[in-house]
Amino acid sequence: MKLFSTKKASPLVTFEEAIFQGLPPDNGLYMPESIPVLSSEFWDKVEGMSIQKIAFEITKAFFKDDLSDDVIQQIIDEAITFDAPLAKLNESLFCLELFHGSSMAFKDFGARFMASIMSYFLRKSDQKLNILVATSGDTGGAVAQGFYNKANISVTILYPKGKVSEIQEKQLTTLGGNISALEVDGTFDDCQALVKQAFLDLDLKSKFGLASANSINIARLIPQSFYYVYAYSRLKGLGKDIVFSVPSGNFGNLTAGLIAQKMRMPVKTFIAATNVNKVVPSFIESGEYLPISPSISTISNAMDVGNPSNFPRMESIFNNDINQFRSSIKGCYFTDGETKDGIKELKEKFDYLACPHTAIAYLGLKKYSTENSGSIGVFLSTAHFAKFLPDMEKVLGYTPQIPKRLSDLIGLEKSSSEIKASYDEFKEYLLQNLI
Ligand SMILES: *Cc1c(COP(=O)(O)O)cnc(C)c1O
Repeated sequence: MKLFSTKKASPLVTFEEAIFQGLPPDNGLYMPESIPVLSSEFWDKVEGMSIQKIAFEITKAFFKDDLSDDVIQQIIDEAITFDAPLAKLNESLFCLELFHGSSMAFKDFGARFMASIMSYFLRKSDQKLNILVATSGDTGGAVAQGFYNKANISVTILYPKGKVSEIQEKQLTTLGGNISALEVDGTFDDCQALVKQAFLDLDLKSKFGLASANSINIARLIPQSFYYVYAYSRLKGLGKDIVFSVPSGNFGNLTAGLIAQKMRMPVKTFIAATNVNKVVPSFIESGEYLPISPSISTISNAMDVGNPSNFPRMESIFNNDINQFRSSIKGCYFTDGETKDGIKELKEKFDYLACPHTAIAYLGLKKYSTENSGSIGVFLSTAHFAKFLPDMEKVLGYTPQIPKRLSDLIGLEKSSSEIKASYDEFKEYLLQNLI
């Protein structure tokens, strides 16, 4: 299968090319020429399938011209090493827990899959690759864990000094091996600008293989459809319509849900639940797309996005037709005050601890359910609450117990190099350290 650019001004490419290029030259986003429909036999039998089996079938539907069954199986075995359990809160309310991977956020699905598939293509051609990534928190951890120990790949992660949580920093700075962390004396935007400049530096590009691992890479998007189908498979037997509420920032997660729907997964509707960076909910209401710049800081900070990068992909899926958009996605947004009340309510009503992002998805579903009844609601939990401990403590009034995996991490010693937000200093570092 070939991929096109949503701006339609770049040539078609193969999956391999799209994965290593990241962005097409016209600055659009790569999308598969067609989204494969899974067979009715698949949908008939899906109830008994493991998430790994579902992942295999979906990957095969996209990559069957590019990868053999054996290679696809290898990639799934390597990448999907954890489950996505559905926590049942009551007869019609479920939380899809996407935080059981190595960095305890849903970004593990995309990052691990991308790492495995890149590593396969590199082994085949015996090339070396350097991944450069700027992170404001969760992306870096998932990328670090996903690429850890992958042959022929070196990863450099830039993060803003003092602006990521302690657990997030430890996730970036304690692996060692092929993962290096750079602590930048500046903001997340500075980190992103440094990485962008490196990708435009012809001198660096002539010396090293460089690639990005950010969320617009198509190899991160496809594996996020696995868990929607998995959730559907576990709820199908109840015989009711299913509504998915997705806490959204760059809208990769929700776009993956739309892809699953295109593959013929039955869904009543998606709920795009955001914080006050409500660009997409406002677009659904008014038909006008108005980015927010700079984005507004909130306690659901992984969703502080003022110009969602996957918006063009959603437009492409809906053929640029606002009515199609509106019939598939309902929008809603919540303030920090409402988010905190949501966290408290989940704890009090259901004895369930959820991170701020997850609480927003819950609130989206609750709002929808007051006007619509009779369906099963699934809200996606995008991270473990312990990754946002200081805010959780403030809201709950006590310190919840955190998983041993995370408390052990706090005890490890951090290893990172500190640089100023200066391109000269960054480039010097890269010239010395890239492979
Ligand atoms: C990245 C992230 C989101 C937003 O996901 P998108 O795919 O960018 O919409 C939500 N919650 C958490 C915890 C995240 O890390």
